[in-house]
Amino acid sequence: MDDRELWESILFRLEPTIQKTHFMTWFQDTAVIDSEGDTLIVGVPNPFARDWLEKKYNHKIIQAAQEKKPEIRYAKYEIHSSLTDKEDCRGTNLQNLFKNSVKAVRKIANKPEVKVLPGVSSKILNEKYTLHNFLIGTENRLPHAVCEAVAQNPGSLYSPLFVYGDVGLGKTHLLQAIGNQILHNNPDKVVVYLTSEQFVNEIVNAIGKKNTKGFKNRYRNVDCLIVDDIQFLANKAQSQEEFFHTFNHLYDNNKQIILSSDKPPRELNGFEERPQSRFNMGMVVDVVLPEYETRLAILQRKCQENQIFVTPDVLEFIAYNITNSIRELEGILLQMIARSRVEQTTPNMKMVATMLKKLHCDREIKGYNFETQPEGPKTSADIVNTVAEYFNITSSDLVGPVRRKEIMIPRQICMYILRHELEKSFECIGAQFGGRSHTTVMHACSKISKRLQDDERLIRDLNSIKQTIGFY
Ligand code: ADP
Ligand code: MG
Repeated sequence: MDDRELWESILFRLEPTIQKTHFMTWFQDTAVIDSEGDTLIVGVPNPFARDWLEKKYNHKIIQAAQEKKPEIRYAKYEIHSSLTDKEDCRGTNLQNLFKNSVKAVRKIANKPEVKVLPGVSSKILNEKYTLHNFLIGTENRLPHAVCEAVAQNPGSLYSPLFVYGDVGLGKTHLLQAIGNQILHNNPDKVVVYLTSEQFVNEIVNAIGKKNTKGFKNRYRNVDCLIVDDIQFLANKAQSQEEFFHTFNHLYDNNKQIILSSDKPPRELNGFEERPQSRFNMGMVVDVVLPEYETRLAILQRKCQENQIFVTPDVLEFIAYNITNSIRELEGILLQMIARSRVEQTTPNMKMVATMLKKLHCDREIKGYNFETQPEGPKTSADIVNTVAEYFNITSSDLVGPVRRKEIMIPRQICMYILRHELEKSFECIGAQFGGRSHTTVMHACSKISKRLQDDERLIRDLNSIKQTIGFY
């Protein structure tokens, strides 16, 4: 049995035991490079695949290999980036190998619409949007709870539900998640999701076919009508008229209507009549940018979903600097992953800082200084070490339990810098200082804030430390 046959038999053994998307992602373009002696050398195309196979599947791979070659006891993973090249015929092409047993990984449906009733189409709801994977911080608890309530009891509590907020903050996610949940609870319900542009197109088509009467009745039997980005109906009088006709009909029949917009009802311009009264009849909620901690949690979740490992300091740095939208947050993360795959490196702060700078050339990038620290990231560890060095104490004393004055003040200063420069949460800082409680950290930070009002010496100390770290 040659190495190729050996690897194929291992893959056939593993495939049924591993989730399909994972399997197709991590075993694509892999190969056995060598199987002499007791060690199996597995070639992988990039560091992500190496880490993943090594951490998650090492045991399974060895077990499966032993069935063919009992002397194998270890596996080693080597990066051979050429495995992805077409000319390098060592890399396994899973699509070919599993033609008959694995359905190709499901692609995003290429048909953007489905018929839900005769004559009624809906955009396909994206299953990746669920209420469960919408992360909740204090600021979006209410919108999430309301969406949950609507999903559980469509048409009874809050109809219409009007969700508004700036772009990229999760409106579409929430709207589609409700649709998905309603269908999950009751597959017989008729849920229609449209953007307002589609709605306008349908009306234009109906007018073209001289069939606006038919249009009026189109949504009569729909249980839940979701219209995303309603602001695009502005200045389209006939579309608005048809829309309100549909709206009233569904409303009168206790059906669920869900709308989204970039502005609250009272600020919507370009509508024939003031639409506030109708949109306000149910429930109006706004989505806002989540705080730092939630942004960080979203990034962590995205890394899990994409099965990649990014060091915490890089994620913290992104969460700290992106304060526009969650879409931008995800965008940066995905760009970074793509780039590090191409360059075969692990994502680092310098890479992200450079990307951020390109994106927002005028905006200050916090926590990274291109001039003084072109190499290094600002991690919590950097700050702890710099503070310790400045006060001539050891880092372990600084974060440890000792309660002497000459240690406690530097410790408070260090906590203060972590909070104000890296925007760490109190809990997170406490954990770094030997599991101290968040109230201890809060107390330390407010004490330093107070003293900074009139303590010249402290101001000087703090400034020199920040300069050394590269925050100036
Ligand atoms: P909008 O419709 O408001 O412009 P989207 O719903 O398209 O924004 O959201 C942009 C991206 O951000 C989506 O990928 C969405 O899944 C993600 N997102 C936004 N808010 C959250 C959240 N709280 N938790 C998880 N993902 C979120
Ligand atoms: Mg949207």
